[in-house]
Amino acid sequence: MTREQDLAERFGTPLYVYDLDEVAAATAGLLDALPEGVELFYALKANPHPDVVRATRPAPGRRCRAEISSAGELAAALDAGFTGADCLYTGPGKTMAELRLAIAAGVRLFSTDSVDDVRNVGAAARAEGAPVRCLLRVNGAPGGATTGIRMTGTPSQFGFDAETLPDLMPELRRVDGVEPAGLHFFPLSNARDEDSLIAEFRQTVETAAALGRDLGLPLDLLDIGGGFAAPYAVPGERPRYPNLRRELEAALDPHLPGWRAGRPRVACESGRHLVGTAGALVAGVTGVKSSRGRRYVILDVGINAFGGMSGLGRLLPVAVRPDGAGPATGRGSLVGPLCTPGDVLGREIELPDLAPGDTVVIPNAGAYGLTASLLAFLGRPAPVEVAVRGGRVVSVTRLEHRRADVRDAVPAGGPR
Ligand SMILES: *Cc1c(COP(=O)(O)O)cnc(C)c1O
Repeated sequence: MTREQDLAERFGTPLYVYDLDEVAAATAGLLDALPEGVELFYALKANPHPDVVRATRPAPGRRCRAEISSAGELAAALDAGFTGADCLYTGPGKTMAELRLAIAAGVRLFSTDSVDDVRNVGAAARAEGAPVRCLLRVNGAPGGATTGIRMTGTPSQFGFDAETLPDLMPELRRVDGVEPAGLHFFPLSNARDEDSLIAEFRQTVETAAALGRDLGLPLDLLDIGGGFAAPYAVPGERPRYPNLRRELEAALDPHLPGWRAGRPRVACESGRHLVGTAGALVAGVTGVKSSRGRRYVILDVGINAFGGMSGLGRLLPVAVRPDGAGPATGRGSLVGPLCTPGDVLGREIELPDLAPGDTVVIPNAGAYGLTASLLAFLGRPAPVEVAVRGGRVVSVTRLEHRRADVRDAVPAGGPR
């Protein structure tokens, strides 16, 4: 019996299992693959489970920090032992209420996406009486050739269009309470391979150096983003990046010669690579039916707890590990219990013989699982989440949503 089956027997299905040793190994592995001195932020949106977040934290000598984007992620980061000073707060729509809450909790670094965003950060900092620093997120040209700041990216709610920054700088500098302290790029997610990751970083470093120079920015911190990959809902291992350290150093040395001395400090971000391979979703088979020649395997969990994106019409490349069952015996669709034809985890995929009562395991489901799903849709309870370290269960929890009467808690005009 596999560990997942054993846990499913104890705690029922659907069940998320998180291997905290794998989170720690992925975090240490990525820190090792990066040049010495390059910092790493864990993007909590990939998985905000408190034990998972905590497992990204300790790495002797070199600690991971937290990239957060909401009051909920702030609470999760603090709960996991990060301090406010460890956090980089990002996102294009930060409200005054959340900004003040974050600053009160000690957050001093914000990534900003627009003039209004910088103004709001400044106003919140003044209101809290604590000056803060911001990175200017740059919307550059993904992978395109650039010279200096002449570039054309695609329109986006994220970041400042690079070509507009020279004109905006005087205005941004005038905002009291917040000091521009560097640049933030995030042009790539889940890079195809190490070469494309390196090419993107090279491009970003070049652009950042040119922009920093042209804008006369004090480039204290340069966040060059991420793109570190992980398999999602299919078997496979987390990729290794044996050439990254050397290639990134080779990109940084000529363009930002002070980086080894921390001028600028350089940072990367990762969500899925640190946690994706650490999670598995164990689902129970509630029924098997055939309809007009097609086989349907009906699970006790679907897009309410995994792959919410498939509910938006983007199907995952899902595969199952049929723990205990035999090899694939034909095609079928793996569907969830929700009353919508969109609740499909895998359409006409290879499946083993399955019967009610069997369990299937969706591997590599540690990132963008539960909290990236349609959790409240159709009102099913969330799966139990089990965190395991050294083969021992360290927590067994369930995320609950409940309605609260907030008439007396919400200020007039809404929770701004
Ligand atoms: C989502 C996000 C990440 C994490 O992306 P992964 O592909 O999971 O590594 C990092 N930084 C920013 C700004 C993001 O929005």
